[in-house]
Amino acid sequence: MTTERLYQSEAIILRRRDFAEADRLLTLLTPTRGKIQAVAKGVRKSQSRKAGHVELFMRTKMLFARGRNLDLITQAELIDAFRPLREDLIRATYANHVVELLDRFTAHNDSHPQLYSLLAEALGWLAETNDLLLTARYYELRLLSLVGYQPQLFHCVSCTAVVEPQGQFFSAGLGGALCPSCERADPTAQPISLSALKLLRFLQTRSYGAASALRVRRSLHTELETIMHQYIQHHLERRLQSADFLKRLRRESAGEYATG
Ligand SMILES: [Zn+2]
Repeated sequence: MTTERLYQSEAIILRRRDFAEADRLLTLLTPTRGKIQAVAKGVRKSQSRKAGHVELFMRTKMLFARGRNLDLITQAELIDAFRPLREDLIRATYANHVVELLDRFTAHNDSHPQLYSLLAEALGWLAETNDLLLTARYYELRLLSLVGYQPQLFHCVSCTAVVEPQGQFFSAGLGGALCPSCERADPTAQPISLSALKLLRFLQTRSYGAASALRVRRSLHTELETIMHQYIQHHLERRLQSADFLKRLRRESAGEYATG
């Protein structure tokens, strides 16, 4: 095996599924190669030494061998196990949410080192936080900024006026806060309380250290969760539609070339 066939990278395990007789197909996030797939051979056999290093959410240093179709993981060395994320069911649910969002907002082989750092940090936060909801919202806002869907919270998305400290509206479709005089710019816009808007702004602009020191009452958490999930849902659907549209365009132009 020549050295060109081998490469090394850090990786976080996003997804895994059984593959062939004793293998697993892993979806990984790497710092410079983005999201990739690779096969961990033999890890479903009880005597496999690699098995303990290729569990969900783990951060590892891996050695890969380029394969004809899929790359193989030849070595895996643990950097961070994030144990609570597999042992505590509630934390596991949040870790799944965090990983799934990243998965859905990213394409394969798209290098994004900041996204990798964010995920590594977020898994560490989730393993320790006392306020999973707060940590999840903080992560969502960071993720959205990194993938180009940052909600606009300081200026009205319709008239660009500075959003005053008062009850406002929030439009998932237009991408953020709407001032009271622009409420009708989006009939599906929802009211947002001043506290919720302030908290979103704080989370969007401050460090995790500052954010995690906050104490947030349950009702405010509920409001924030609803707003963020509507926002994320809306943009994920649009993203899927535009991906379908691009695929169709490509197919159609390929068809033209074939006949032309
Ligand atoms: Zn306005």
